[in-house]
Amino acid sequence: MKGNLLVLSGPSGSGKSSLMKHVLQAIPDAYFSISSTTRAIREGEKEGVSYHFISKEAIEQDMEAGYYLEWAKVHDNYYGTSLKPILKALHEGRLVVCDIDVQGHKIAREKFGDVITSVFITTPDQKSLRERLCFRGTDSNDVIDKRLANAVSEMTCIKEYDYLLINDDLEETAHTLIAIALASRTKTALTDLGEFISSWANIE
Ligand code: 5GP
Repeated sequence: MKGNLLVLSGPSGSGKSSLMKHVLQAIPDAYFSISSTTRAIREGEKEGVSYHFISKEAIEQDMEAGYYLEWAKVHDNYYGTSLKPILKALHEGRLVVCDIDVQGHKIAREKFGDVITSVFITTPDQKSLRERLCFRGTDSNDVIDKRLANAVSEMTCIKEYDYLLINDDLEETAHTLIAIALASRTKTALTDLGEFISSWANIE
């Protein structure tokens, strides 16, 4: 069995980080891919936990060096997913969990095909997304407006995803996401079927 990738996308404020924590707790060998970003660190965030916070110059250098599986500009900041740790985790047969936007998902899907299972997570409606972003209290009104506008355009990409989760109730959505994550590990595309069938039939 090889490892596989679980890609989570959706508007910021839809609850991806909290849901991801549930998956990581439920699946002990799951590996969270820590992205690099040029966005300012928010209150309560720690370097190297949710992100590596780096400068524009450093991320541009890494892009040039081919360090990223994918990178994208989201809400005026750069975000990139480091390739090397993902390949290592996949080689170890682990479930790799990535939080990337819709542009990043497109690129990752082109590169990894069936090794990816993707889930789009959103709120029941735009009003509740605004309420969550306001309640979080980490962004100015300008930034919230930008994030809401971006959310509307991201929603047009839902059809490119394997699953859609409407996060109305965190516990219930987490339960479903864990089920998707567990099922994603059993995709036939992850197994060398020829080898499996021969060894199952005990053919030399
Ligand atoms: P936030 O700034 O709220 O943490 O994230 C903003 C957006 O960036 C979210 O839609 C999130 O999914 C996306 N994002 C986070 N890391 C990456 C990454 O490595 N690559 C891409 N393409 N998007 C990312």
